[in-house]
Amino acid sequence: MPSDIHPHATLPRHFKEVLLGQKGCVLWFCGLSGSGKSTIASALEQVLHDKGRFCIRLDGDNLRTGLNGNLGFTDDDRLENVRRTAELAKILAANGVIVLCSLISPRGAFRDLARGILDEDFTEIYVKADYATCEARDPKGLYAKAKDGKVKHFTGRDSSFEEPQEPDLVLDTEKLSVEDAAFEVLEYLRGKGIAL
Ligand code: ADP
Repeated sequence: MPSDIHPHATLPRHFKEVLLGQKGCVLWFCGLSGSGKSTIASALEQVLHDKGRFCIRLDGDNLRTGLNGNLGFTDDDRLENVRRTAELAKILAANGVIVLCSLISPRGAFRDLARGILDEDFTEIYVKADYATCEARDPKGLYAKAKDGKVKHFTGRDSSFEEPQEPDLVLDTEKLSVEDAAFEVLEYLRGKGIAL
């Protein structure tokens, strides 16, 4: 940290967690485009909200319309995309928020960066579906475009996706329904005492 920067103390995390009646945490959904990250995070947000939990979603596509709007899809830009998102998630979790991040985050090194920033708040959730499945779903029409060479650095095609080696949770969306996947995350949180 530069020597002229002197961060101010904020109200302790515990105060915010008591106010909200929950523990802050970050659920980091990674996986190919179309694997189901946003769909599951959205379903989970609704379930948690209905249970009185305060969640904020940080969705890769949404952030690229604002905070990360100046970033592209080179490895350097994707790393910066992950870094900014993780730093924002860190502030939110430190204020008691349950943060749902959905970003492709295709490299182990990117996720390691997020893990390093978020430390114990970080939960890595691999939303798993193979390229062919995602291509058949193609919710944003990107796979069709990529096939015609109209998307640069497309993950799984001309830019690789490194599968997480030891994720905290795997959601295989070729087998699990959206509801069952959200339920699995909920069970995981319960097991950790994060959201009761
Ligand atoms: P991502 O956020 O990973 O890019 P999206 O959530 O935007 O992916 O898109 C996933 C697409 O796959 C949606 O159209 C969704 O309806 C569909 N889908 C089919 N089965 C599943 C499942 N089991 N879990 C999640 N999404 C699924």
